[in-house]
Amino acid sequence: MPAQLRVLRADITTLSVDAIVNAANSSLLGGGGVDGAIHRAAGPELLAACRLLGGCPTGDARLTAGYRLKAKYVVHAVGPVWRGGEHGEPELLASCYRRSIELASAKGARSLAFPSISTGIYGYPVELAAKVAVSAVRSALVDHPLIEELIFCCFSAADLAVYQSVLDASSA
Ligand code: ADP
Repeated sequence: MPAQLRVLRADITTLSVDAIVNAANSSLLGGGGVDGAIHRAAGPELLAACRLLGGCPTGDARLTAGYRLKAKYVVHAVGPVWRGGEHGEPELLASCYRRSIELASAKGARSLAFPSISTGIYGYPVELAAKVAVSAVRSALVDHPLIEELIFCCFSAADLAVYQSVLDASSA
């Protein structure tokens, strides 16, 4: 059975899923936005684990434990900074989603939640990012049938509406 794709408005740190994805920066040493929230909720062990990873290139991801989170794992994905869209941003963003699914699936995760990667501080227009996210996820899940539930976790009502409409259009 294909994975269930859902859109939810929530603080991603509160979700009871096997893995949550962090919109990290390439240092993996924490930052603002969802990254700061995840580090606060997971506790200082998360930063200690991230220090050992030595960073991560844009478009790629790294996995750690979830420590004090309900989620067993955190996948730290490094999205692109929006620079107008002609600098490989869609490919790098799609790669973040694909790599995150690969890493979570390799650990046996059945449920996975993503924030809206790159659309906060990194400035990626959410309407464009949501299309990339939904299409990247749909194609990656074909190769990772273990994942049963994938959540796009939006922080604002406006983002929720965008992701929901892109998802509805993609399944029509
Ligand atoms: P980036 O640097 O990749 O743009 P941000 O953290 O600035 O990452 O923003 C990514 C998205 O995460 C934004 O839509 C922002 O509103 C959202 N966000 C911020 N905090 C949380 C949270 N606790 N749970 C879920 N989403 C969050």
